[in-house]
Amino acid sequence: MNTAFDSLSQWGLKTFSGCPFLIAGPCSAESREQVLATAQALAPQPLSLFRAGVWKPHTLAEGFAGAGNVALEWLQEAKELSGLPLAIEIDRPAHLEEVLNAGVDVLWLGARTTVNPFAVEELAQALRGIDTPIFIKNPITPDLGAWVAACERLRSNGVKKLGVILRGFVNRRPSKWRYDPEWELLQKFRQIFPELPYICDPSHIAGDASMVFSVCQEAMNRNFQGLMIETHYDPSKALSDVAQQLNPKQLEALLDKLVLNNPQFQAEDERNSLSRLKQKIDQLDVRLLEALGARHALASQISQITGKQGGELAESGDDAQLRTKIKAFAQRHNMSEAYLFEFFDIIMRQTKSMS
Ligand code: PEP
Ligand code: MN
Repeated sequence: MNTAFDSLSQWGLKTFSGCPFLIAGPCSAESREQVLATAQALAPQPLSLFRAGVWKPHTLAEGFAGAGNVALEWLQEAKELSGLPLAIEIDRPAHLEEVLNAGVDVLWLGARTTVNPFAVEELAQALRGIDTPIFIKNPITPDLGAWVAACERLRSNGVKKLGVILRGFVNRRPSKWRYDPEWELLQKFRQIFPELPYICDPSHIAGDASMVFSVCQEAMNRNFQGLMIETHYDPSKALSDVAQQLNPKQLEALLDKLVLNNPQFQAEDERNSLSRLKQKIDQLDVRLLEALGARHALASQISQITGKQGGELAESGDDAQLRTKIKAFAQRHNMSEAYLFEFFDIIMRQTKSMS
């Protein structure tokens, strides 16, 4: 059972059995021709989403900054022609309306957004009530706390369809990677959110097309549910991230070679999910006990004021109203009415016996 993978299809996204959840497309949307040519070349492959950067703030101010809003029209056209659903980076609330109007199916927060709590909070508030799945890339610096906080911010603003993208972290030491995957840090993060779908972005980790496959394979071994691979119909002409993009044929060959799912990591994820769920039940049990204690204290106060036995106190409560509430609650939560009545009967009996 792979529940994180199942979540993706439950969210209404396309998945292909025997394939990772695959997001592919160019680093940047550069021109109408480039977007359409790349989407059409990718259409026959098992793609769940077609990606392209629309707004591209780069480290160097003179780098290609993306085509901006006009690219949304190219992407809409690409979706119509190829049938591929769309994923793009959302960088600020002001862009949200036009992105959703363009029929974008999935949004992601980039590494330079996740690192900034102000930006995440603004986006999280703007995303309230929006049902579109959101993927969150790791922050560009290896800051576990910032990554966790970003996920929590999105969740506490009501984002339910949440996934994660590992794109690597700035290197602290000389490295063969463009951005270090920091697999150990990922494992710590994953223990906190074992139930989320995990996507690996090998392109930004590797920084070089020749190393993309090995990162993909490592991600599959580590039981990632998906891959986001930068793909351009002609990478040599790309205006950004030239060295790391694959062409559609190379992507096809990579998928053919990939060996899926390592049972060891799958079992570890299931164990983490179970222990996280058990932990939550333990926390709820403590809250239940606290609520019972608080109720008991109030009942004692009332019997002290009135000098009456708890029995009379219980009878003075609106029993009929409580029974109606219990019935509605049981229905809403698909719980047994009999069980809830029995539970409250025990509480009431205890109150009646108080003096
Ligand atoms: C991208 O996916 O093209 C991109 C800019 O990503 P990141 O936020 O990982 O740098
Ligand atoms: Mn890129």
